[in-house]
Amino acid sequence: MSSGLSDLLYRRPYSDPEAKKRLRSEDELLHLDLVITEFCTRKCRDCSNLMQYYHKPEHLSADNVISDLGKVLGVLRVHELKILGGEPFANPGVLIEVLRFLAGAQGSRVDKINIITNGTVIPDETCIEAMKADPKVEVTFSNYGSVSSRQDEFVELCKANGIRHVVIDGSFYWLDFGRPVKYLESRDFVERQYKHCYNRKNCNTLYRGGFYACPRQAHGIHLGLLPDDKDGYADLYDPGYQSPDDLKLAILRVVRRKKPVAACSYCINGKYIHVPRGVQKAPENG
Ligand code: SF4
Repeated sequence: MSSGLSDLLYRRPYSDPEAKKRLRSEDELLHLDLVITEFCTRKCRDCSNLMQYYHKPEHLSADNVISDLGKVLGVLRVHELKILGGEPFANPGVLIEVLRFLAGAQGSRVDKINIITNGTVIPDETCIEAMKADPKVEVTFSNYGSVSSRQDEFVELCKANGIRHVVIDGSFYWLDFGRPVKYLESRDFVERQYKHCYNRKNCNTLYRGGFYACPRQAHGIHLGLLPDDKDGYADLYDPGYQSPDDLKLAILRVVRRKKPVAACSYCINGKYIHVPRGVQKAPENG
């Protein structure tokens, strides 16, 4: 074990009580968001994950997603793995491959698999079978009312196939995270916002070989809209890692980080401005 990791884990264990909440043990993340596609069937105006900014969204490949997931599971257990996009059922081939991978040996390192959907796509029989095969799978319907056009049909399919599912209460609101531009907020505001941020506590994100504090940071960097601050996330394929412990340490540094990442200066969720969920963006001219 590298001295850095032993320092972090054993000499000063859980000095940050918030970080403790995000780890069930020294070896287990409470939550992890796994992105399998940038494609979404809807264009929510206020999507905090910045999906509305993808003009040429891509599906991620099964090889890459499984390689990333295998790397994380090789060093840490995950209590709840959330599979999302965009819309994960828009990339069914990769979703099925990921579920099959999780049915294998490394799946024992995940306690719950939660697939987050906007309820617009009905999965085919192969996908239903893959979900049915694993009792750890649950489907969460984000429930945007009429925008979730096929939700009722999909819920019935879950019931008929014994697939656990949850429909979010449609009366919830979203917080406005703002456009991805630099805001002239004080350092104090940015630090407080980061400290209390739900997303960085519950939505650490695995995306294209990186482990990020939140999905907005991950997609904002990939889209070129937010600064690529290399110290703000863990590159799973950094050739500098000498051992699996180095990778584990890099991931835990993101989870336990106390300072805001650069993306936080481009975010205003800490103003707690409420916006309705799922409002569709007006079509762009041209
Ligand atoms: S950019 Fe910072 S404040 Fe905004 S959601 Fe991500 S971690 Fe939270």
